[in-house]
Amino acid sequence: MMQERSAGIVLFREDSGKKLFLLLHYPSGHWDFVKGRIEKGEQEKEAAIREAREETGITDVEFIDGFEEKIHYTYQYDGKQVKKEVIFFLGKTKTSNVTISDEHLDHVWLEYDLAYSKTTYQNAKSLLQKSKALVFAS
Ligand code: ATP
Repeated sequence: MMQERSAGIVLFREDSGKKLFLLLHYPSGHWDFVKGRIEKGEQEKEAAIREAREETGITDVEFIDGFEEKIHYTYQYDGKQVKKEVIFFLGKTKTSNVTISDEHLDHVWLEYDLAYSKTTYQNAKSLLQKSKALVFAS
């Protein structure tokens, strides 16, 4: 079975006292956080920062301590089963302007409840839930 490892960031910012979460629209249809393949020789956090920069143009990510969550899923590619692990960190940014790459269709900044509804997969919704206390304390 093919195996894939990605790293991502539950990225949020503050706007007029509100906490807004960033979601990207993936070409396969789902809404999810910034994430991408960990390259050879790369640390997980390095990969997450690089992906944030490449996928959104955001370069000022402040990691919030105490959040490191792995999710797992499998999907079919070219008739083959791919087993995937994604490690997520929690990050805060001061940047509101997002420039998406051609890897995505759209982006949106949403408050917690709307972000929770919009996020497609249950494992991603769980990440939001797990991040909530830290986000609202920071
Ligand atoms: P990456 O952003 O890591 O480079 P990708 O854009 O190549 O990834 P994924 O987002 O992992 O690809 O999507 C590959 C397949 O897995 C798609 O069919 C997608 O619908 C499915 N998928 C994506 N995220 C999840 C998830 N959290 N749980 C279950 N299936 C998912």
